[in-house]
Amino acid sequence: MNPYEHGEVFVTDDGAETDLDLGHYERFINENLTQNSSITMGKIYSSVIEKERRGEYLGKTVQVIPHITNEIKEKIYGFEETDTDIVITEIGGTVGDIEGLSIIEAIRQVGLEKNPEDVLYIHVTLLPYISGSNELKSKPTQHSVKELQSFGIKPDILVCRTEIDIPDSIREKLALFCNVRKSSVIQNKTADCLYAVPLMLEEEGLAREVCNHLKLEKYIPDNSKWENMIENIRNINKENTVKIAIVGKYTKLEDSYISVIESLYHAGFANNVNVKVDLVDSEKITKENVKDRLYIYDAIVVPGGFGNRGIEGKIQTIKYARENKIPFLGICLGMQMAVVEFARNVLNLKDANSAELEKNTKNPVIHIMEEQKEIDKKGGTMRLGAYPCVLKEKSLANKLYVKSEISERHRHRYEYNNDYRQKLEEAGLKISGTSPDGLLVEIVEIENHPYFIASQFHPELKSRPNKPAPLFVGLVKACLKKEV
Ligand code: GLN
Repeated sequence: MNPYEHGEVFVTDDGAETDLDLGHYERFINENLTQNSSITMGKIYSSVIEKERRGEYLGKTVQVIPHITNEIKEKIYGFEETDTDIVITEIGGTVGDIEGLSIIEAIRQVGLEKNPEDVLYIHVTLLPYISGSNELKSKPTQHSVKELQSFGIKPDILVCRTEIDIPDSIREKLALFCNVRKSSVIQNKTADCLYAVPLMLEEEGLAREVCNHLKLEKYIPDNSKWENMIENIRNINKENTVKIAIVGKYTKLEDSYISVIESLYHAGFANNVNVKVDLVDSEKITKENVKDRLYIYDAIVVPGGFGNRGIEGKIQTIKYARENKIPFLGICLGMQMAVVEFARNVLNLKDANSAELEKNTKNPVIHIMEEQKEIDKKGGTMRLGAYPCVLKEKSLANKLYVKSEISERHRHRYEYNNDYRQKLEEAGLKISGTSPDGLLVEIVEIENHPYFIASQFHPELKSRPNKPAPLFVGLVKACLKKEV
């Protein structure tokens, strides 16, 4: 998945590399999802091909219908074995996309195979707003419903994305032309705060409609905690704002850093302050212009990434944050570059680098470990998913997490090189988190700096609006010049 096209790669506890939707789901429902929550056509096709090779189709011709569609249904039905009550299957894309045809066909069959009251189709559409005539257009929705019906699916509920309130006349029109009850036309209006959307949908009666369709009794949701959270967010004084720069290379598409951005907002909620985030292109940062480009920010984040592009700009950024005592958080590649920067400029190892970026560097302060090379030969190359990390007593990390052992998610191939551990620590780059066996360095930090911390894991993957990630909370707190 290319971050330019798909946005960030989200990683679950059990190591699935998924698209960013799963990150939103986790942030909204505060549950850890798993491999089973993400189905790609790649997984479906490879499973069908493997089955064919094993002879499981008994020599039959393998076709999209029924083999691919059966495989998709098996994934959905797979949850029947668990204690799951309701399976929500979200299908991406647009009705009519060639990519989606087999999936639409599979869910049509699900509707036929299960009891009618056990299956519900919700169609999410866009009502374009024409500002010149101040009107909403229902035509595209009518057309996509028609298209769905031609595939044999009748939507029960329409969730309509809109910029303005949907007038009653349009709700009636949608109900009539799309063959849904008027109460099942649900408005999903652009909200002032993303996290207020579930409350808005509740007010619109989405859950009521779902429960009616699925014949579920008595639903009495208690949203009071969430409501309080939204109220607190809305009450944050607009004047009270900190500015934070994310210095990375995928700056053209905000979705590439969506979890990092959301984590900064969550940390803002926790500190009762607005956070304004700018994406700054690391390729454009040089030794000469780093100060001009970054002096306006209260804090700097250097996020994860792969490959050489924009690397020297990241190193200049970290040097600037370290020397000028600007609050700094490095994540994954950002942590690795913090180690490289420190080795080059404090230990004076001018050619220090990560082996990923300079294969033959004489000072590979970041490298692939021997054990890892063995795994590499077998094909599995990345450390993926949640791993435990033990925190050093009284360190900044320990203070932030208020515990001695944590679990955070990883997605990387390279590691801190232990040969440099002693020298780096003696010079002031302290290790405050390692794997339980002490072999893998997970967090580094600098004392006598308002806030300089970097982790090999991705703390943003576990941050939630009502459970912000400690490393981000500390960063925003440091912007307010409060002691962390
Ligand atoms: N490219 C680095 C590695 O593979 C860092 C990866 C990341 O930032 N997610 O180790």
